[in-house]
Amino acid sequence: MRILVINAGSSSLKYQLFDMTKQTVMAKGLCERIGLDGHIKHVAEGHDVYESYAPMENHAEAVRAVIGLLTKPDTGVIADMSEIGAIGHRVVHGGEMFNASVLVDGEVIRAIEECVPLAPLHNPPNLVGIRACTEVMPDVPQVAVFDTALHQTMPQKAFLYALPYDYYERLKIRRYGFHGTSHRYVSRRAAEMLGRPIEDLKIITCHMGNGSSLAAIKGGQSVDTSMGFTPLEGVPMGTRSGSIDPAIIQYLMVKENLTIIQVTEILNKKSGVLGISGVSSDFRDLLESATEGNNRAQAALDIFTYDVKKTIGGYAAAMGGCDALVFTAGIGENHVVVRRMVSEGLECLGLTLDQDKNQSMNGKECVISTGNSPNKIMIIPTNEELVIALDTQALVSR
Ligand code: AMP
Repeated sequence: MRILVINAGSSSLKYQLFDMTKQTVMAKGLCERIGLDGHIKHVAEGHDVYESYAPMENHAEAVRAVIGLLTKPDTGVIADMSEIGAIGHRVVHGGEMFNASVLVDGEVIRAIEECVPLAPLHNPPNLVGIRACTEVMPDVPQVAVFDTALHQTMPQKAFLYALPYDYYERLKIRRYGFHGTSHRYVSRRAAEMLGRPIEDLKIITCHMGNGSSLAAIKGGQSVDTSMGFTPLEGVPMGTRSGSIDPAIIQYLMVKENLTIIQVTEILNKKSGVLGISGVSSDFRDLLESATEGNNRAQAALDIFTYDVKKTIGGYAAAMGGCDALVFTAGIGENHVVVRRMVSEGLECLGLTLDQDKNQSMNGKECVISTGNSPNKIMIIPTNEELVIALDTQALVSR
């Protein structure tokens, strides 16, 4: 079966076409500037990289352009659209309604719409992606895979904020958590690599990319995670502040004469390691700058890694141990120094990093703790698209 995985943003659409017999990617690409001047980059097995600049009025047109690229002789990998057996969509927010992936029907679309107030920037474009595919390929089954679903197993003590209870009941204010597809993939992969049933394991997964979150996975279930009601909570990120004293918001508004919109923008776009360093949101730039003696870039690295370490300690305490610590995403997979800084001091949890392996196995799926470390530290490159494709295949094959 061939499965098309779609991740639709407000003016973009990422896609990957999977051959599920081999679980390989036949083609992938990105449509950008939808509704504007339009740009497509398409990479396919057996062909040169293809790029074009042509206006795409809406997401349906982008889907049509993608189908065109997938089926044309000079860029394509399939003979025609009928070879696509199903479509899997990344959907950011499933609220409390979805604890697993589902086949899309009218009721599911209404439920995703109901979650729009919880993710006003993400769920609408995700829905637009679903509708665009329905328009172009009305007979192909579609599946929605939610970033929040994995974390629906969190106990109330982990997901409820200490606010008047009524806000949870009436406004659904609670911790939801995100990056669920990534935390799910790497935790299951860790169990496979260790050759142990996931039901027996306590795993802490660190998804560290431009957005970062940690999850405590006990017996295969998420029991806590660092992102909250929105992806703004938790450890500092590229440009997001992560958790701060909420009283700072009013203080900033008064002192700097800012509106709540402006403060929210600052917390989302101008804070995190970019805000601290004044250099960059990119951890490669931070390291370069810190190595050249920039104290604020060093501070950003220190603050980020300290917070990740504290969260790991908290989750180990919450689960009564940590059999495996997994690093994933752009920084987790590729940043030797960040992994070293996070791991320093975790020997008290039975987690001892092998400095040589940390360096030599950078970017690769492997165990990077020492041979005699009681618990394991691992790098596992994430693969959210494969999880979406596998969920889609499982649901349409039922
Ligand atoms: P992501 O959001 O998962 O794409 O991750 C983006 C982050 O990963 C940025 O902060 C990059 O600095 C970091 N990153 C990506 N590639 C590398 C690399 N080869 N070495 C170090 N950091 C990297």
